[in-house]
Amino acid sequence: MASYFDEHDCEPTNPEEQYRQNALLELARSLMQGLDIDSGAFDLSDWDQRLPPPAAKTAVQTLPVVVISPEQADKGLKCPVCLLEFEEQETVREMPCKHLFHSGCILPWLGKTNSCPLCRLELPTDNPEYEEFKKDKDRRKQRENRLEDLHGAMYT
Ligand SMILES: [Zn+2]
Ligand SMILES: [Zn+2]
Repeated sequence: MASYFDEHDCEPTNPEEQYRQNALLELARSLMQGLDIDSGAFDLSDWDQRLPPPAAKTAVQTLPVVVISPEQADKGLKCPVCLLEFEEQETVREMPCKHLFHSGCILPWLGKTNSCPLCRLELPTDNPEYEEFKKDKDRRKQRENRLEDLHGAMYT
């Protein structure tokens, strides 16, 4: 008889990241179905716990519009939000991470939050408070990296 542990020892390499990604796509799809995301339940001061603010309008407006090539259509490339395959000659939006979406799928999403629902790459926002938070997070990260270097240098 297989035990609980036998059945669970083949987990994806990074279950947490996988979970976060699925959760984001889930949210993006719920937008497609016209459901609203309730962001009122989060603590306003803690951006780590909630969706970042909408992408800056200028960033959204300047997202390149690309036309699906026959090769891309042949490969069965899909919009990650609605899971429909792109058709040849269809015009779609390209995020800076090169992920492609229907305008009708990504635009409402970016009106809610600034990151790619697939890989979480962030676009700039119009929210000064959030931009400040992001800078602060980068600074914290740099400090941590420096500490790690220092630690590495001491013990090698
Ligand atoms: Zn779509
Ligand atoms: Zn992406």
